[in-house]
Amino acid sequence: MYKVTNIKEGVKLRDYATYATLLPLVNEFENEAALVTPDLEKVCIWMINSTAQGGGVAEMLPRMLSIMRQIGLNVEWLVMESDETAFFEFTKKVHNLIHGQGDPSVSEQEKKIFHHVSEVNKASLLAQVKDKDIVILHDPQPIGLARILKENRDVKVIWRCHIGLDVSNEQTEAAWTFLQSYFQYIDHFVFSAPEYIPKGLTGNVSIIYPGIDPLSHKNRELQTYKLAGIFGNAGLLDSEHPKVTPDFTHKVQRLQPDGSFALASHGEDIGLLYRPIITQVSRWDKLKGFLPLMKAFVHLKKNKDQFCDVQSRAARIVETVRLVLAGPDPDFVSDDPEGKRVLKELSDFYLSLDKSEQQDIAICKLPMESVKENALIVNAIQRASYLVVQNSIREGFGLTATEAMWKQVPVLASNACGLRHQIRNHIDGVLVQDPEDEVAIASHLCDLLGNDTKVENMGFNAQKRVIDHFLIFHQIEAWLKTLHGIISD
Ligand code: UDP
Repeated sequence: MYKVTNIKEGVKLRDYATYATLLPLVNEFENEAALVTPDLEKVCIWMINSTAQGGGVAEMLPRMLSIMRQIGLNVEWLVMESDETAFFEFTKKVHNLIHGQGDPSVSEQEKKIFHHVSEVNKASLLAQVKDKDIVILHDPQPIGLARILKENRDVKVIWRCHIGLDVSNEQTEAAWTFLQSYFQYIDHFVFSAPEYIPKGLTGNVSIIYPGIDPLSHKNRELQTYKLAGIFGNAGLLDSEHPKVTPDFTHKVQRLQPDGSFALASHGEDIGLLYRPIITQVSRWDKLKGFLPLMKAFVHLKKNKDQFCDVQSRAARIVETVRLVLAGPDPDFVSDDPEGKRVLKELSDFYLSLDKSEQQDIAICKLPMESVKENALIVNAIQRASYLVVQNSIREGFGLTATEAMWKQVPVLASNACGLRHQIRNHIDGVLVQDPEDEVAIASHLCDLLGNDTKVENMGFNAQKRVIDHFLIFHQIEAWLKTLHGIISD
């Protein structure tokens, strides 16, 4: 277990307040914080998860920590370590089970590995956490530490579950049966939606929506030359113009028609900045619905006359539109062994397409060595998109949707719980009832491609929705209330 020490202070609270749309939020946040910090600054708050990079939690923690520190709190981030692939295979399985998928049997061997990895981290955990501290365990991976903490320290333990499913089935029951054995060591639970609270858990529960940092590298405004510069630096675009910034050390790799990955600008140009672009950026996870989205896109291209009048502007846009599917280079996401398998499945489908269809789809592995460069690439791709899609079969919340909405890019999203909490259908985006219904997705894509006034309108509404509900200030304010409640108990 190691402490993440390189958390930059980054943007200061008062800097946010210089933006007119953020000023009221920052003022309210500081007023609320002033009420609780005198009590909270006496304790150390530990955030514990299982990876420092990749995915929503690792994305959110550094900014949360920085802002919490700026208001005077003592917050640290510990990453639980393991070199046991079987541990991450199992926690991925539990993740999928919570989302209602996979083999519901949990073997003694799997429980043993889970227990073992918690024990391996014990000494380092106890060397750092002291009596009276508050420990927040994120997601299932570190929940085994709850018992170790409660048996050895006088601390409050919170379990923050970022995932969930709004219906229960054999799989979710299996996940909760396994996790419930740790619930006796948890003082308070935090979920992202009321629908995710497991049956039988009453009291000691808070709902906290995740939120994004509007001025992070992932979300800050990019002038057009910067956007083009990032594409150039990242190898997504070739241009003869001079670049203001040096090339990134690691570049985007794009699937080639021969099945290999090569520099993204290699071969036919993707057309970023020139064509309407539909994008989905996510981890390579089956539940993110990449494959049905790709199939829907191909279906739309093949059958455009069924969806729109061939003489219409919509038809011309459907002809020119391209699909970008982007996700982290799986070699760099330590707790996600499924990534390579999903990427392979997508590659196989891509390779089965004919040449012109392949040219309209870019499957890109984004470099993860530099958090900043990765964030800038995601930012630029989202901003260059006509439409962002988040076709998740299951989605705990879906920060990728929030990020796009903040950028005034509306989202075509599945009706998964986290997404429908964010998006009001036809106001801030469009919800697809079934993420595996390729024809329905194709039809929605066509409607939106042919209606740029609606897209522009929803983009504005989407940004307002994020400002009102899903920025980091709302999230930390909710945390402060929860933490204050816990120490006041
Ligand atoms: N992300 C990223 N690089 C990638 C793919 C995803 O930085 O190559 C980020 C994405 O921008 C978002 C987060 O990872 O901030 C994913 O969070 P989300 O809530 O959408 O899904 P999760 O991965 O937590 O299931």
